[in-house]
Amino acid sequence: MSREYDLIVIGGGPGGSSAAITAAREGSRVLLLERGRFPRQKVCGEFVSTESLALLKWLLGESQQHLLQKALTLSESRLLLDGRIIHVPIDPPAASIARYDLDLALWNAAQQAGVTALQETTVQAIEGEDPFRVVTPSGEFGGRAVINATGRWSNLKLAENLPFGTRWLGLKAHFHGNGDLEASVDLYFFDGGYCGVQPVRGSDGSMLLNACALVSPGVASTLAEVLDRHPLLAGRSRAWTTTFEPVATFPVVLRQPVPVSGNVMNAGDAAGFVDPFIGDGIALALRGGNLAARNLYPFLNATAELKQSLEGYESAYRQVLSPAYRASSLLRKFMGVPRALRGAVLAACESSPRLASYLVEVTRSKPIELQPEFHQ
Ligand SMILES: Cc1cc2nc3c(=O)[nH]c(=O)nc-3n(C[C@H](O)[C@H](O)[C@H](O)COP(=O)(O)OP(=O)(O)OC[C@H]3O[C@@H](n4cnc5c(N)ncnc54)[C@H](O)[C@@H]3O)c2cc1C
Repeated sequence: MSREYDLIVIGGGPGGSSAAITAAREGSRVLLLERGRFPRQKVCGEFVSTESLALLKWLLGESQQHLLQKALTLSESRLLLDGRIIHVPIDPPAASIARYDLDLALWNAAQQAGVTALQETTVQAIEGEDPFRVVTPSGEFGGRAVINATGRWSNLKLAENLPFGTRWLGLKAHFHGNGDLEASVDLYFFDGGYCGVQPVRGSDGSMLLNACALVSPGVASTLAEVLDRHPLLAGRSRAWTTTFEPVATFPVVLRQPVPVSGNVMNAGDAAGFVDPFIGDGIALALRGGNLAARNLYPFLNATAELKQSLEGYESAYRQVLSPAYRASSLLRKFMGVPRALRGAVLAACESSPRLASYLVEVTRSKPIELQPEFHQ
């Protein structure tokens, strides 16, 4: 195995796999390092927004298309808030894909694309530059460029604005719904958090429900407590049975993006963490990884300095992806205003799904200009 690469990508989630596949398909020698092992459960609502589906299809390549064939489509969202039910059409539909399958399929697609992909390899440090030295327990690797896609939290702590603010708890499990298979993504809001419920296909093809919550730890510390926080959800979930022990993550802290730290590009949650209720984190990771790798082409092909590639990425990121963070943080503030004040807006949304749809639309990252092959 070689120890020298054009690009080293740290973190094998959607952001890292996307960056690695994009660079490898362009002819770069890419090393992808992941601390964990796939497949694994991950706290996530598993809502894959429409904006990223063409890119996901391209990233998966021929060998992993089965993932999209078995994905469920979601054409409606229901927001259950302040005693109202607001229907929001999702047009074109989004997809529901278990992270257990999504992350593994992307990892496999990276290997198919020629990426050297090592699991259970934690990066301990990034040193020097030109080449960078990436330190792991199994030795050092050299790379002309490095992309940090280590997610929301990592030992590397590269992004300057380290998270502060409200510390949320994330919880998730899959359930047998015993006949409950509503084909919409339902968001149940209550004081101190919310819980999303949507149908998802299990690895064995069975139809399940994913319940995923973001709560203040003072409000609930288990998924069972979360399900009891909303009267309609408590009633609905009574017949459900879990398929695995709920998984948890803490702390979850929302953070505005920092696309570049020093001479390293940050992609996905490592760049910034967007409020999960807009269901765009996977899309932002896929698109951020792709954008980072594309901006490295000129440097890796010796037609630009690394500095120019970094500037190109930062500017593209601010233009294409940052608006989603700003809009979702405004929506989050709106959720925090007193119930009486938000009542008028919610009533308008309740009677006009088009208005609700528009408000969701503004939280979306702008579509990336697709390269021709993304349309295949
Ligand atoms: C409660 C909750 C619900 C959510 N629901 C949704 C949803 O419905 N839809 C949606 O789009 N998004 C959702 N998200 C957000 C989504 O999960 C993330 O945005 C997405 O996983 C980001 O992908 P990533 O590749 O950047 O990071 P990750 O998926 O976290 O991948 C990072 C990888 O880096 C690895 N790593 C970390 N440190 C190292 C190291 N030092 N060396 C090697 N590897 C390392 C980790 O093991 C991990 O596998 C949700 C998040 C939460 C918390």
